[in-house]
Amino acid sequence: MLFADIIGQQVTINHLRHTVKENRISHAQLLLGGEGYGALPLALAFAQYLMCQNRSETDACGTCAACRKVAKYQHPDLHFVFPVIPDKTNDIPVSDKYIAPWRQFILKEPYGTYTEWMAALNAEKTQGLIRAEEGREIIRKLSMKSFEAEYKIMIIWYPEKMNAEAGNKLLKLIEEPPEKTLFFLVAENSEFILNTILSRTQLIKIGRISEDALFVALKNRFQLNDEKARQIARISDGNYVQAKEYINSSVDTQQNYDNFIQMMRLSYAGKIPEMIAWVDEVAKLGRERQKAFLAYSLRMVRENLVLNQKQKQMARLSADETSFAERFSTYIHPANCGLLQQELDKAFMHIARYANAKVVFLDLCFKQNRLLRL
Ligand SMILES: [Zn+2]
Repeated sequence: MLFADIIGQQVTINHLRHTVKENRISHAQLLLGGEGYGALPLALAFAQYLMCQNRSETDACGTCAACRKVAKYQHPDLHFVFPVIPDKTNDIPVSDKYIAPWRQFILKEPYGTYTEWMAALNAEKTQGLIRAEEGREIIRKLSMKSFEAEYKIMIIWYPEKMNAEAGNKLLKLIEEPPEKTLFFLVAENSEFILNTILSRTQLIKIGRISEDALFVALKNRFQLNDEKARQIARISDGNYVQAKEYINSSVDTQQNYDNFIQMMRLSYAGKIPEMIAWVDEVAKLGRERQKAFLAYSLRMVRENLVLNQKQKQMARLSADETSFAERFSTYIHPANCGLLQQELDKAFMHIARYANAKVVFLDLCFKQNRLLRL
């Protein structure tokens, strides 16, 4: 993630860049900011800036080997700690066990919330925690020399969820840090963080996103007109997550429905000129709406399988969706359902990572053409 991808927060970005320029990077920093203000994106962008092999005064290059690894959150010197849940194996849960879903989560939406993370783990009702065992893991990881970068960086998301034992282990490390190691703690509420940790970290307070920055982001990411973007920016209180919720609740489900029907008809028929014409239209929607459409399509495929399996009472479809699904569901069956979902998921990830929408959707149509005929 680049500084350029952050919504607003120019003052904080300037401050972070300045500490690099002056070589005054504090080894333990607490980025404290409310939900939707962008504390985690800032930590991610700062990590990339520090690891980039070819950074400019303003930003990481985005193209060097280190940037490419950080962009996938797979750089060997970039470590993550975040709240996790116990799994079925009875093993003690630590972040590394969940690193794959975590990467997906932050790739899809670096502005994601704790609640969304728990939902991504199918654990809405469980309390995510950073446990004592995590403290041991942190020590183990940081005792290794950095592999490639100048610094080892550990991003600790939600230290509020850290129990006292894990906190004390972390505290020792912060007091006597291994060489060239940086800790970025990313938190929303300082009241739930151990005082001893608070007193040993440098606080970077992240305020609301300015209305103007939010306005520009909403306009570009959701292709809203000026009036609508301004209206939502005004009522969202500098909170991007809140703004997204306002937009999604008003996003036209009818549009998703119409597009889904069209995409499946065109994919099945496999007529390339019509496909291209449709793809051109979808490409105009903007990245967030494309993601919403793909999420909608995933749900539709799943519900159509439920219908295909003759479990009508279990399908969660509106009246319109049911009338289309009555015929369409005969094309969705156990042999192709998982594969279709995989392709939709892949398309989602590609869109989230700024791939060319025309290429992604056209490719998706081709894949679906084959899968719908299985
Ligand atoms: Zn770079």
